Amino acid sequence: MVLGVDLGGTNLKAAVVEPDGRIVATTSEPSLVAEGPEAAVARMTALVERLSLEHDFDAVGAAVCAPIEKETGRIAKSASLPGWVDVPVGDMLEKSMSMPVTLENDAASAILAEWWLGAGNQEPVVAGLTLGTGVGGGLVVDGKIFSGARGLAGEFGHISLADEPECTCGFSGCLGRLAGGTATGARYERLSGKELVRTDEIIRRAENGDTAAQEALETTVDYLVRGVRTIVNLLNPDVFVLCGGLSTGWGEPLAEAIGAGLKDTTFPGLDETPIRISKLGTFAGAIGAARLALDNR
Ligand SMILES: [Zn+2]
Repeated sequence: MVLGVDLGGTNLKAAVVEPDGRIVATTSEPSLVAEGPEAAVARMTALVERLSLEHDFDAVGAAVCAPIEKETGRIAKSASLPGWVDVPVGDMLEKSMSMPVTLENDAASAILAEWWLGAGNQEPVVAGLTLGTGVGGGLVVDGKIFSGARGLAGEFGHISLADEPECTCGFSGCLGRLAGGTATGARYERLSGKELVRTDEIIRRAENGDTAAQEALETTVDYLVRGVRTIVNLLNPDVFVLCGGLSTGWGEPLAEAIGAGLKDTTFPGLDETPIRISKLGTFAGAIGAARLALDNR
C-alpha cells in the first residue's frame, strides 16, 4: 500500500492506494500555503503520520502545485504558492517523513492518475490540462510522466498566447493567466460589474442565461482551444484529458466546446483527438502521486 498527498493552493489532499489501483481512503483539509513552506511540510508530515496509524503504507508520493526541478527537488517560484521562492521542498519532505518520498508536479501527477485509472485509459500518449485557479499541464508517455531534461516539461499552462499579463515563468500572456479560474473570475467581474465569484458559480449563472457569465466563459474556452490546438499539433496524443475544478464542474459541454473549436483547425485528423473529462476528479493529483510512489518503491 502507498500514500499519495497533493499540496494545492487551497487544499491538502491524500489518497491511500493499493498496488492494483484500489483506493482505500481519501482525505482533504485546508493547505494554508500562505503560512510558508515549513508549516506546509509539517502539515503534510502530520497528515502522513495520522494516516499511517490506520493504514499500512510504506512509501509516499507528494504532488505539489509548482514546477519542480528534477535533480534538486527545488521549487523556484509558483503562482499557486505566494512567497515560496527557491524552496528545497524535496529535501524538506525527505528529512521530515520517516519513509521514502517521491516528488512531482501536481498537474503531471493528475494526468498520470488519469492514464492509470481514469479518462486516459492507459493509452500510449496522454496529454492534459488541469483547470483550477491557474492552468497546469502533464504529458504521460507509455505510462511514465515525460518530464524533460530538468523536470520542467509539460508546463502547458505557460503556452504564451498574448502580450500580457505578466506571468511567474518570466514571460507574459500565458494560457494559465488567461484561462484559469482567477482570470475567468476577473473577466466576469469586468463584464458584469458584479463582485468576483467562484468559477462553479459563473458556470451556474451562464447556464441560467447570465450573458456576462456566458461571455466570460466563451473567452476562456477560446483561449483553451488555442492552447489545446497547439498541444495536439505538437504531440499528437491518443487522448487529451481535462482535469481540475473547471473541467469537472462544467463537464461534457466543456469537452464538446473544445472539440468543436479544434474542428478543421489542426493538422489533418488531429481535430478528432478524443477530449475527455477527468474520471478521478479532485483526488487525481493524490492518486497520481501514489502511483509514482509505487513505481519508485
Ligand atoms: Zn507563464
